[in-house]
Amino acid sequence: MDYNDSIRAVKGVGEKAEQRFAKLQIREVGDLLEHYPRDYDEFHDTVPIRTLEEGKRMAIEGVLRRKPAVRNTSRMKIITALFEDETGTVQVTWFNMPFLASRLHMGTRYLLRGRVGRVNGKLVLEQPKMYSKNEFYKNVGKMLPIYPLTAGLTNVQVTKAVKQALSECEGIAEFLPPEIRKRHDLIGYRKAVQDIHFPKNRIEFYRARRRLVFDELFLYQAALRAIRVRNDRESSHVMTYREQLDSFREALPFALTNAQENVFSEILADLTGGHVMNRLVQGDVGSGKTVVAVMALYLTVCNGGQGAFMVPTEVLASQHCASLQKMLGPFGVRIGLLTGSLTAKQKREGKEKLASGEWDVVVGTHAILQDNVQFHDLALVITDEQHRFGVRQRETLSEKGTEPHVLAMSATPIPRTLALVLYGDMDLSVMDERPADRLPVKNCVVGTEFRPNAYHFMKEQIDLGHQIYIICPMVEENEESELESVMIYADRLREGFRGAVSVDSLHGKMKPQEKSEVMERFAGGKTDILVSTTVIEVGIDVPNATVMMIENAERFGLAQLHQLRGRVGRGAAQSYCILMYGRESKEGKERLAILAGSNDGFKIAEEDLKLRGQGDFFGEMQSGDKLFKLADIYEDAKILTAAHEEAGRYQFDEISRFYKKNKRLMEKLEHYMGDVPL
Ligand code: ADP
Ligand code: MG
Repeated sequence: MDYNDSIRAVKGVGEKAEQRFAKLQIREVGDLLEHYPRDYDEFHDTVPIRTLEEGKRMAIEGVLRRKPAVRNTSRMKIITALFEDETGTVQVTWFNMPFLASRLHMGTRYLLRGRVGRVNGKLVLEQPKMYSKNEFYKNVGKMLPIYPLTAGLTNVQVTKAVKQALSECEGIAEFLPPEIRKRHDLIGYRKAVQDIHFPKNRIEFYRARRRLVFDELFLYQAALRAIRVRNDRESSHVMTYREQLDSFREALPFALTNAQENVFSEILADLTGGHVMNRLVQGDVGSGKTVVAVMALYLTVCNGGQGAFMVPTEVLASQHCASLQKMLGPFGVRIGLLTGSLTAKQKREGKEKLASGEWDVVVGTHAILQDNVQFHDLALVITDEQHRFGVRQRETLSEKGTEPHVLAMSATPIPRTLALVLYGDMDLSVMDERPADRLPVKNCVVGTEFRPNAYHFMKEQIDLGHQIYIICPMVEENEESELESVMIYADRLREGFRGAVSVDSLHGKMKPQEKSEVMERFAGGKTDILVSTTVIEVGIDVPNATVMMIENAERFGLAQLHQLRGRVGRGAAQSYCILMYGRESKEGKERLAILAGSNDGFKIAEEDLKLRGQGDFFGEMQSGDKLFKLADIYEDAKILTAAHEEAGRYQFDEISRFYKKNKRLMEKLEHYMGDVPL
């Protein structure tokens, strides 16, 4: 049996079970072996009855003191019995095991292990298993796996299948060279796989986990390194500095911040150096990444090349296209828009202009990745909000030119340690400063009873000439109702303000064209209040908006809330963020308090990680499955550093040779290199 065999190869797994396993994404033997327990049932020695604790699985040794009583309900037979030891008595119940009644003998001592529950205020031992002394003490100290399950699959079934696979699968061979194992004191692969499922004790569990976590992180780091090596190429677009850039900067209505200056000089060094640029600019919301990208585009055009600016949404594409036109149009740069929602004719014409070089810069969505989009001479690729794209997409775009430079921009606040792992293949520039004229956003966390005050406050802001975003209460599941709830909310608002303010709405079900129109009206100052779902989250820039009110704020993740808040505080006026919670919960309040306490995205990200683990960040990423099965970047920081160092010691060829022995890991390596957003 091999990793890549169907799980039908496992004894006892038939067609039904196969379908059920598929629901857990388990199709091959390897998937089953990587279906790690979510927890363990630790098998402890017996305890005195008096020390039983509710909610735990515990074992007692007691004498049967009262004849078992059998009760019938409509659905089952219930046996209750009373057991006693030197410290007290406890009631024991069994469901649907009537045969037990005749097997239990008064005055005999039994070893029972089960869950401690509570009925009518009294502790009871529920559905315990009965053990012989011999059998029981063989298990003491062991940790029994508890697996993630789905309807129709029991823990016992999964456990059996895993055991079977472990004993028959031949491919679980070692692949790490002994020196790596030695340097980091890692146990063998086969033993690790065995022990993660069936550890004899905690020490074994930790050792097994550490080995497997190392594998995941090492593999990932190796992939990053490979991408980096692949990307480290001579540039065919070595640029030179042009005076026109000075004129561009003089024409800007503001002076660049120090951070913007620094980041641009790093980009400049890349573009004028001999190598292909592969740089990630990380800057908190509102730090002014766009203008830096625009300068890079202008330099590219001055040097005779073309630029592509790829963004994740149509709304953002038209916004960026308009602002690029405003900034670069006066300098003779010709800019075009290419998105999926254009008419066939518009698209065709756009493509012609790109191919002929009539357009210098194209702004667009995924649409510019299509095969039939060709460039005259693509020299610079920019992706905005890059966590929405995978390496493969960035490369597809790059392949449309001869080794163009790549600049990725991200506002997702990722702590440095995490950035190292996630973006290890890129050079990193951090924009750690906001324009000087910005006042920090003022935050408040309030209940729904504050709503009338909030509206009153909004009216004052509108009278001052400002604009407002309201993120509508979220509706789950039903898409119809998303639309409805935005509409109803907007209508109620119009009524409430008696027509004194103009209200517009934006939601995910609108056609891209409509969305762009709504955004244009808002950006043009024609709308006072924009009621929206989270579609406005990414990148939108309307500096005149000063209030962001988020309904049901407790339902969003911190990172997302921070992005939403980033829509205000983008101009010189004081801005406000009203976080309104619909339902109180301790955890929710705690999270909102973190947000209200800081406007620093990186700090919030650190806190969020502590509070909820890494799920939130990876959850946002495009590839649906979790990046790592076991590793937690935050908790496994030490192993991460070790894996990072190790990956640095070897050539990629060597590393892939280690993994060749294990087809499955090889596939993973390829997945990391292609589909993971970097
Ligand atoms: P983000 O980094 O979130 O993409 P943007 O590039 O959209 O931010 O910039 C936010 C706003 O700040 C824009 O309106 C932009 O014109 C303005 N801006 C950028 N740089 C400066 C600066 N140095 N001084 C003042 N305003 C600036
Ligand atoms: Mg932006």
